[in-house]
Amino acid sequence: MLEMKGIKMGVNVAEVFGKDVFDETVMKDRLPESTYKEIKKIMYEGGDITPDIANIVAQAMKEWAIEKGATHYTHVFQPYVISIGAEKHDSFASIPSDGKIDNTFTGKDLLMGEPDASSFPSGGLRETSGARGYTAWDVTSPVYVRDDTLCIPTAFCSYTGESLDTKAPLLKAMHAVSKYGVRLLRLLGNTTSRRVMSYVGPEQEYFLIPKELYDKRPDLIYSGRTLFGSMPPKGQEMDDQYFGAIRENVKAFMDDVNVQLWKLGISAKTQHNEVAPCQHEVAPIFSVSNVALDNNYLIMSILKKTAGKYGLVCLLHEKPFEGINGSGKHNNWSLTTDDGINLFKPGKNPDENKLFQLILACLMEAVDKHALLLRTAASDTGNDHRLGANEAPPAIISMYLGDQVADIVEQILEKGEATRSLSAGTIDFGINKLPILEKDPTDRNRTSPFAFTGNRFEFRMVASGSSIGDTNTVLSAMMAEAFVNAIEALEGAEDMDKAVAEYTAKIMREHRRIIFNGDGYSKEWEEEAAKRGLPNYKSIVDAIPSITEDSTVKMFEQFNILTRAELEARKDIYYSEYAGVRNIEAKAMIQMANQMYIPTAVYCSKELADTVIAVKNAGVDATAQAELLGEVSAKLLEMRKAVKALEEVAEKAYSEKESQKSAELFKNEVMPAMDSLRKPVDELEKIVDKDVWPVPSYGDMLFY
Ligand code: ADP
Ligand code: MG
Repeated sequence: MLEMKGIKMGVNVAEVFGKDVFDETVMKDRLPESTYKEIKKIMYEGGDITPDIANIVAQAMKEWAIEKGATHYTHVFQPYVISIGAEKHDSFASIPSDGKIDNTFTGKDLLMGEPDASSFPSGGLRETSGARGYTAWDVTSPVYVRDDTLCIPTAFCSYTGESLDTKAPLLKAMHAVSKYGVRLLRLLGNTTSRRVMSYVGPEQEYFLIPKELYDKRPDLIYSGRTLFGSMPPKGQEMDDQYFGAIRENVKAFMDDVNVQLWKLGISAKTQHNEVAPCQHEVAPIFSVSNVALDNNYLIMSILKKTAGKYGLVCLLHEKPFEGINGSGKHNNWSLTTDDGINLFKPGKNPDENKLFQLILACLMEAVDKHALLLRTAASDTGNDHRLGANEAPPAIISMYLGDQVADIVEQILEKGEATRSLSAGTIDFGINKLPILEKDPTDRNRTSPFAFTGNRFEFRMVASGSSIGDTNTVLSAMMAEAFVNAIEALEGAEDMDKAVAEYTAKIMREHRRIIFNGDGYSKEWEEEAAKRGLPNYKSIVDAIPSITEDSTVKMFEQFNILTRAELEARKDIYYSEYAGVRNIEAKAMIQMANQMYIPTAVYCSKELADTVIAVKNAGVDATAQAELLGEVSAKLLEMRKAVKALEEVAEKAYSEKESQKSAELFKNEVMPAMDSLRKPVDELEKIVDKDVWPVPSYGDMLFY
């Protein structure tokens, strides 16, 4: 099958990996040695790229790209809140001279671009008339060729210098956590580490459904999720889908995606079926946060684009189908020094690992202090259907540590220090043909939003369709802040070991409420969390104010990541996104009701009425037919009323000029009106002839 689609079977990963990337090997090969060294230095340590160097690199890139068949180049960037990125393509064509054209691509073309920024969200930062925006080459993320285009990862800002994307703040936050991480390590006697890198391995969940069915569902087309539809007899209750055998067409799709990703230097590693029918996951091996951000954008884009080749559509929405699991993006995150010390690794004897204990205390402080901001950063409108809706994870942020590390924290809380570590033990099957397995010291907790998994934390809230930029900006920034606090407390201590132990215990005591090792889905936890004062905002609309809380502004301004004005703008963009998404959904529902469901109900009632008359005329009792007619007519009336009510509130919410008020109206009034319209439609679907139903059902799409 793959061969028919023009891709070779049996691809050797090692051979294709990074083939389309202008990576260090290519640079070494094609750049003069001094330029190569200079660029490498800038990549790792920072510094200015002089016009001369930019010109040399651009020339080499152009030649390499043209050999790969490229005709165009583009600065790729991720405007704020639009997750699938933006590109403006320019060809290599120079100004014609004597009727001839050259291929040009200069150092300036590489370093900066000037796309018209006026149509991207700016949250009022910029007058509509002030259109200029700039993109700047992110030298730390590799350049690649895709679809005959040389793609240059960039950061994006307005004419006046404000960040308009997710990349620039992330780079600044990564810089901050590195700088203060190293300072803290120095204070503790480390003399070798020069950087602290934040690593991310994002697991991407998605749905694949047949395109011919998708094309018949205006709700999916316009809003990315189904706005109507009743559950088929089978959902995910049999637990037979997770890790199940992968369908042939899906396997072919995955193989194709993998090869494309490998060529772009993205190490697609794990793939499997997820919990819901037609739901899948792909995870690359972790990389430095900004590269992971760019790679995740590419993964989403390649998933979407490739699906069409196999007659499928890829849905990245957080909740495409009601009644079964939604999709997320598990953000596996760690902090590791350039010389290989993973700060989140407890080692064999965590009771002796005082550095790990201190870092854990810092993390507890950071997560507790910025819980709501983290929840907001990880969210978009679609995520409201996951968080707080009886599925993974809950809207309350807490940290799961697992038995071994939780025990260390317990000991420190009790007696100020840890003196023993629980050992992991082994698993012996009792059959001498099977190996004895060394257990992990921690079990997994699937219900926790922020779970320790042995050498990293898995933050499970992130929305499947959104960028991972904001989340990782907050993660790095909040750790930088906790490191600064630790440095201030420890600097000048006479007995450093004692000071570290005392500070660790103090911070753990202050923030112990953030630890929860139980079932995060349970009602008891909601009650317990409320007692502990942990925030539990089920809707993003109520969590958005955290973006401009004093604690947020202070943290971001302290490290020059974002200013108050930029944060105010982002808050506004969040509200507008919510209102915009809900408005599209409401309009799609109104259209489908008026043009599809109501006419179907009218048709069914006419058929039934004719039947009642015909049956009666035949001298037979028509009670059953008449009853059915009554039910259909009642649903029809309910639909008509609900459509009118929805039209009214949606109009009111959309015409509200103030973005926060508008979002609140959509959440408080439009959403319930949408539910009221969905109800009679879904009920009608269950009782009328399947042949006349105007759209494919959940069963058609999920169990094809
Ligand atoms: P799970 O079993 O939790 O679903 P997966 O194998 O699907 O795990 O994904 C785990 C992700 O965590 C991968 O992207 C992996 O590369 C990443 N990862 C592993 N170690 C680290 C680390 N130290 N820091 C960040 N991410 C990591
Ligand atoms: Mg996984």
